[in-house]
Amino acid sequence: MRKNIVAGNWKMNTTFQEAEELIADILEKLETAENQCEVVVCPPSVYLELASDYANDYDNLLSIGAQNVSEHEKGAYTGEIAASMLASMNMQYCIVGHSERRKYFNESNEQLALKVERLLENAIRPIFCCGEQLDEREADQHFKVVETQIKEALFHFSADEFSNLVIAYEPVWAIGTGKTATAAQAQEMHAFIRRIIAEKYGDKTAGDTTILYGGSCNAGNAKELFANPDVDGGLIGGASLKANDFVAIANSF
Ligand code: PEP
Repeated sequence: MRKNIVAGNWKMNTTFQEAEELIADILEKLETAENQCEVVVCPPSVYLELASDYANDYDNLLSIGAQNVSEHEKGAYTGEIAASMLASMNMQYCIVGHSERRKYFNESNEQLALKVERLLENAIRPIFCCGEQLDEREADQHFKVVETQIKEALFHFSADEFSNLVIAYEPVWAIGTGKTATAAQAQEMHAFIRRIIAEKYGDKTAGDTTILYGGSCNAGNAKELFANPDVDGGLIGGASLKANDFVAIANSF
């Protein structure tokens, strides 16, 4: 059985004090929430320990993830963070290949494949992002683009390895724009992703893979998106910075 997940990507936001207030607020609200999903928060890396300590105090109501990881194991890579470092801080998840990293840091599918490898070696679940640009959708290339991203970065893994992955479909035109994919567009792409996973790894692995939707998902549209049979939750940017909204999204199943 696959798991429903709602994951918050804080990106490069919050001061230390704001991060502490937000994590405390989310945890307090989750204590009384009846969410039917695993809730993950991915704060900036400098606040991972803070978030993890808070989550521990609340009986791990919340899982903590990083937003990025190095493709290298360790060594002279100033400013980078290794998967083994994240593992030594008990991180459960790490976002890989967010469209902002692909765009501003030129991350390629080959590099993302290495990042996923490092994470799996360290028993951290990658949340692998894929999604098309607006012009690619308008040119009817969106299925091809997403298929290529997934195949090039992930399809060399064994079925066992693949079963640790979470996929996040994030149409780039919907990220931070307020322009959400319709429930039908999300379902269509999620079903397509599940189909190509089934072709490669079989129905069991495909059926067990959690596929999240990301792109202007909020407390108002989450229910409709999550009601789709192949949408197993969301990767949430802007709305994850407000505890009320984020917990409302987690309560949307
Ligand atoms: C994201 O950055 O992964 C994201 C989905 O952002 P937003 O929810 O703000 O569109």
